[in-house]
Amino acid sequence: MNFKDYVRVIPDFPQPGIRFKDITTLLKDGPAYRAAIDEIRKLVAHHQIDLIAGPEARGFVIGAPLAYALGVGFVPIRKSGKLPGETIEADYALEYGKDKLSMHKDAIAPGQKVLIADDLLATGGTIQTSINLVRQLGGDVIGAAFLIELSYLQGRDKLDGLDVVSLIQY
Ligand code: 5GP
Repeated sequence: MNFKDYVRVIPDFPQPGIRFKDITTLLKDGPAYRAAIDEIRKLVAHHQIDLIAGPEARGFVIGAPLAYALGVGFVPIRKSGKLPGETIEADYALEYGKDKLSMHKDAIAPGQKVLIADDLLATGGTIQTSINLVRQLGGDVIGAAFLIELSYLQGRDKLDGLDVVSLIQY
């Protein structure tokens, strides 16, 4: 399956000059969505994984079904102020804009092997911040999995030493 055919590129969203990769066109196609998650599962299947962590909101759409397919737990990484329990927070900068991400303090037990999942790797800022949060909680980050990688932004260079996998590259 050529997954790229299912992604819609929208020019000048959310700002002039950005060519936004819209994954809703892939998600609404049942066989394509299932096949994409299954392909990502195969790319990470050789790892021992205890938990998947995914940043909101599109990280949930990739991370949660991946966790289900692997039979492991899923922990959410959320924007500040959304999680009800005790949290830790970290600042992050996006390809456009900036924000704070948070996790529950008890989301990860020390030493657990964590794979981080998101829809798209751009500059790597979101994933770097996610990695920092998981490591602060004592988690052992083994890699990061994406539906899409914008290779020309070289985000993977910031994720030194980790196994970075992606299904679609631009
Ligand atoms: P980074 O932090 O790597 O620069 O940006 C990646 C984050 O921004 C991801 O969480 C992703 O959801 C979002 N993002 C940035 N550009 C795009 C895009 O073109 N399409 C989609 N679907 N998400 C994007």
